[in-house]
Amino acid sequence: MKEDAYWIRDQVQKHNKWFEESLPMIASENLMSPLAKEMMISDFHDRYAEGLPGKRYYNGNIYVDKVELKCIELAQRIFKCQFADVRPISGTVANMAALMALTKPGETITCTSLDHGAHISTAKFGAVGFRGVNTVTYPFDTNDMVIDVDGAAKLIREVKPKVAQFGLSVFLFPAPLKELNDVFNEVGCTVWYDGAHVLGLIAGGRFQDPLHEGAHVLTASTHKTFPGPNHGIVLGHNLNEELSKKLSSAVFPGVTSSHHLHAMAALAVTMAEWEIYGEKYAAQVCKNAKALGQALYELGVEVLCSHKGFTESHTIAVNVAEHGGGSEAANLMERANMIANKNMIPGDKSAMNPSGIRLGSQELTRVGMKESEMKEVAALIHRVVVKKESPEVVKKDVMALKRNFTKVRYCLNEGEEAYAYHKLV
Ligand SMILES: *Cc1c(COP(=O)(O)O)cnc(C)c1O
Repeated sequence: MKEDAYWIRDQVQKHNKWFEESLPMIASENLMSPLAKEMMISDFHDRYAEGLPGKRYYNGNIYVDKVELKCIELAQRIFKCQFADVRPISGTVANMAALMALTKPGETITCTSLDHGAHISTAKFGAVGFRGVNTVTYPFDTNDMVIDVDGAAKLIREVKPKVAQFGLSVFLFPAPLKELNDVFNEVGCTVWYDGAHVLGLIAGGRFQDPLHEGAHVLTASTHKTFPGPNHGIVLGHNLNEELSKKLSSAVFPGVTSSHHLHAMAALAVTMAEWEIYGEKYAAQVCKNAKALGQALYELGVEVLCSHKGFTESHTIAVNVAEHGGGSEAANLMERANMIANKNMIPGDKSAMNPSGIRLGSQELTRVGMKESEMKEVAALIHRVVVKKESPEVVKKDVMALKRNFTKVRYCLNEGEEAYAYHKLV
């Protein structure tokens, strides 16, 4: 119905306005540059390009091929690697491709457990279960929020997994790849690193560089700390011909048909812009996360890992058990236009009612916020979550702060409104 169509557009526009007036701190989200966003509403969206550049099943791909080859070249340069497949349509799809290429049903992989911050990709009810692969999880040091190296070494030697998998959704500190390299070699397992959250930090040289620390395959989303489109990527370094072929055919025809050409083009633009602005952006993301952790800590809020500087990534984890729990905190924050998610922290039993919240600095950094704004953000969080001040009152101050930060930075055409293209449509 006509009314429905306009009503839907109205809801989306309301959402846009809301987020323009909000402080989004979901650690897995980001804003695209105006130029990248333009690619999303191009004719690329309406087309198919199955296969690889120069070897397509359809015609009409002259410019698509040029853009995809450029995207691959940019990925190889930014991540200093030989293999790049830019076709997975999300991080989960990239993970499914990795599982298809690296494992067979019935085989075993080692990975991190969900309650220690792993993604559902490695859960029985996620991609791993779909592939019919068994998992054994590493022992985890919940005080330091890292994999227990000695325990993991012992486990990998015992289990002799087909694949040793790493990577988290609450990814505060690097995984012990270098430390476990000898063990990987000893058992001959493939090392797969899921860098969905930290891809931008890896690209910016601010987190471990998995492909040069022993990982063979790196899968990721391209829209978290890497500020590109909702899309995925599979990268590899020093892979043999057979494994490269397996990965490529796992992506297509394995787990994709159309690979969302508009998003692929937006990814290419984001990478081209990244070569100019990326390192500066990644550095500020990490500084801001530490600053946010420090400011909350100074206000008496329990931020995990205060003894280790809170984080080495974009993410901090906060224990709000004494302030009503993660669910209440995130709901109060939402009413005050601060968007975050409740999150399990070590010791929690329920994902629906956990003690923690997870906060990411990458999107606030993207609109130009620095350490001094992190202090203001911490104070606003403290007012609603701890002081239980009326969210509607705090919201006014949130909106006042955000008013100066509605434009995307660290990109070409810097300074355009974050939601300009939504307004155009
Ligand atoms: C977000 C995430 C994914 C999945 O990403 P999508 O692009 O949403 O499919 C995979 N792995 C990890 C560790 C993540 O955090």
